[in-house]
Amino acid sequence: MRTVVYPGSFDPLTNGHLDVIERAARLFDRVIVAVAQNAEKAPLFTPEERCALVVGATRQLGNVEARAFDGLLVDYVRGCDAQAVIRGLRAVSDFEFEFQMALMNRKLDERVETIFMMPKDTYTFLSSRLVKEIARLGGDVRDFVPKNVGKALAKKFGAEPVRRPAKGN
Ligand code: ADP
Repeated sequence: MRTVVYPGSFDPLTNGHLDVIERAARLFDRVIVAVAQNAEKAPLFTPEERCALVVGATRQLGNVEARAFDGLLVDYVRGCDAQAVIRGLRAVSDFEFEFQMALMNRKLDERVETIFMMPKDTYTFLSSRLVKEIARLGGDVRDFVPKNVGKALAKKFGAEPVRRPAKGN
């Protein structure tokens, strides 16, 4: 059984995250999306809400689960009987931090491999931070997040979900 952990804040899940999850789900028997509490980042959604959004958006995949986690990643990975960690790389700007973290995790436990995956090119500009900012200002985020996340954002910001104009208008 090959298990991989995909850790992150997922505040909230975007189509970029989902793209990485779909790729990982094809390579591994089991993908655990580990939703970090990240209290210091003042998240918009609670860990439970973020997990529920991941579950709702990945139901069709069958081998993906979502769990809230806190503490040292390598301990968590061992506790899940996982062999590897997945991280997404969008651009060179992600690289330095991710590289440093991967090497530190290897130092803490050399059995835990870090695998980097690149999303589809159209998702490379996507981040949870930007999506929240656009939704907060009343912008249309439907191209950037799964449907259930779009609804949850609209609810958080007290907005009506935006309807697409009919084609030809
Ligand atoms: P963190 O707080 O750990 O950065 P995020 O939820 O922002 O958590 O991201 C989790 C992981 O997903 C990170 O490896 C990040 O680089 C990656 N990621 C974020 N957005 C995208 C995207 N649009 N495409 C691919 N990977 C992404």
